[in-house]
Amino acid sequence: MGFIDDISEAIVDASNDVKERARDLKEIARLKREYRDAEKFVKSRYEGIGRDFYEKNKDKKKKDLSDITDALNRMDALQVEIDKLKGGVDCPACGTLNNAEAVYCNKCGERLDGTKEEAETEEDTAEKVDAEVVEEDDKTK
Ligand SMILES: [Zn+2]
Repeated sequence: MGFIDDISEAIVDASNDVKERARDLKEIARLKREYRDAEKFVKSRYEGIGRDFYEKNKDKKKKDLSDITDALNRMDALQVEIDKLKGGVDCPACGTLNNAEAVYCNKCGERLDGTKEEAETEEDTAEKVDAEVVEEDDKTK
């Protein structure tokens, strides 16, 4: 093999290297995405298992989970403070402070705006949307 052949082979190798590197970068990005997805999945599974464990054991004396209970209570208290600052509403039935946008008491379910008329729930809206979709389908037949 001559000198020119060696050079052209080297050029082909170099361009293949560049292509390979680009492919590698793409592959790395893809693998990283897959890694993050798997990591997210594991974290949420851990969280779920941890929550189950907490719920099952929080009242048992042998496992000290009171630090979690304290933190959860603190979160509730902080949420109340936040809701208050946002202009929360006291439930007329049970006195629980609800956030300003709440329509129903998050504790007892009482309507908070004092009106008795039926509110349109998300389910009602979803059913309406479904009905409209069905109607549209009928037209195309
Ligand atoms: Zn209430």
